[in-house]
Amino acid sequence: MALRITNEANRCLQCKKPLCQQGCPAHTPIPQIIALFKENRLMEAGEKLFENNPMSVVCAMVCDHMAQCAGHCVLNHKGQPVHFYEIEQYISDAYLDRMKLEKAPYNGKNCAVIGSGPAGLTAAIILAKAGYGVTIFEEKDRIGGMLQYGIPDFRLPKTILDRYKTRLLELGIRIRPHVVMGGDLMIDNLFRDGYKSVFVGTGVWRPSSLGIEGETLANVHFGISYLARPISYTVGETVAVIGMGNVAMDVARTAFRHGARRVMLFQRGSKPAASDHEMEYAQLDGAEFFPGKSIQRITPEGPVFKNTVLNDQGRPIGVEGEDELVPADTTIIAINQRPKDKLVNTTHGLEANERGLLIVDEHNMTTRPGVFAAGDVVHGSLTVVHAVEEAKNAAAGMIAYMEEEK
Ligand SMILES: Cc1cc2nc3c(=O)[nH]c(=O)nc-3n(C[C@H](O)[C@H](O)[C@H](O)COP(=O)(O)OP(=O)(O)OC[C@H]3O[C@@H](n4cnc5c(N)ncnc54)[C@H](O)[C@@H]3O)c2cc1C
Ligand code: SF4
Repeated sequence: MALRITNEANRCLQCKKPLCQQGCPAHTPIPQIIALFKENRLMEAGEKLFENNPMSVVCAMVCDHMAQCAGHCVLNHKGQPVHFYEIEQYISDAYLDRMKLEKAPYNGKNCAVIGSGPAGLTAAIILAKAGYGVTIFEEKDRIGGMLQYGIPDFRLPKTILDRYKTRLLELGIRIRPHVVMGGDLMIDNLFRDGYKSVFVGTGVWRPSSLGIEGETLANVHFGISYLARPISYTVGETVAVIGMGNVAMDVARTAFRHGARRVMLFQRGSKPAASDHEMEYAQLDGAEFFPGKSIQRITPEGPVFKNTVLNDQGRPIGVEGEDELVPADTTIIAINQRPKDKLVNTTHGLEANERGLLIVDEHNMTTRPGVFAAGDVVHGSLTVVHAVEEAKNAAAGMIAYMEEEK
């Protein structure tokens, strides 16, 4: 491992205009980090990574590297890009336990963070370091959002989130688990109780349904619910997954690890939404892919499809042929997620677009003054690093807003 990442660091050309940095949505200063690493200045490198992206260690593990940093490295032209994320993971993992977090003295102002996914955690860390009192309100038992309840353990060990929690508590951040904002408590209650601004990072947790016959049967489940606690489900030996995006790949791979012997994935169109990387792993695990299949209904024996008629661009324009029953013990629907609407329904002035996503301005302030939002609840299901980058902007907006109030 040590030799491998040292070799990777030595292969970096220290480009004057680093394309890898441009390809990273968080603009990680990759050449600088590699230079510090090569000089054995591990903690300085870790600090720089954390200041730029508090979720660095997570991103290093789950980013779509070939679409981002590694995919932009100039050495791609010669065959092998620098695998910076491996260096980043090593540094940030070491830093997570050894960091000495400095924070400004408490300035007497409190803010609330709703949701403890990567967006909420990033905002909370930045605000706490700037001297604000921060309380996180989280609907679930544990922190992390989709890092905890979506991305499977074999891709992202959950112990990382316990280590984050220790750091949050050291920073003086308070966590209130099992509180549904917009249900148990309202955003108006927060302002009543003196919070000066509110961050919303509630993500997209409502699975999209197919709107077809059979969705309520006992052998049908939603992908994101399944991933949250696969142990609660008995999927049998043959599983049909509807959808071929990244979530569907995680569902397939998780099913193999919980008793399934055959997992088939189906989608209407011809081009899967999942990244090549995720599909390759699912394929290695044994998943079988069937694009061009339009689901008609689900029966206790399994899903029923017709073949999709595709236009010249590969887009579905209709169906043809006979019904085809695919025998399966369980059908798991993993097509998309949308935000829940509790907060919009209970917060005066908080507006969402037609997809239920919160509307924000360039500082990530919502239509309700003092309420900021970032992450999936703003742009729809995307990535950890995008949630982080947006949350940084929102936290800066909150600080400016609270300063102005003074
Ligand atoms: C199965 C799966 C695999 C993924 N794999 C990857 C990957 O490999 N790489 C990658 O970059 N991205 C991946 N993603 C996407 C990534 O996880 C999300 O983009 C990211 O987590 C979004 O962060 P967030 O903070 O906006 O929301 P979330 O992570 O969804 O966190 C929202 C939090 O808010 C809480 N909450 C919601 N409503 C309320 C409420 N009313 N009151 C209190 N708390 C509330 C939730 O419980 C949750 O903890 C994956 C997503 C899924 C579902
Ligand atoms: S944050 Fe993600 S995209 Fe950026 S350098 Fe790290 S692994 Fe690459």
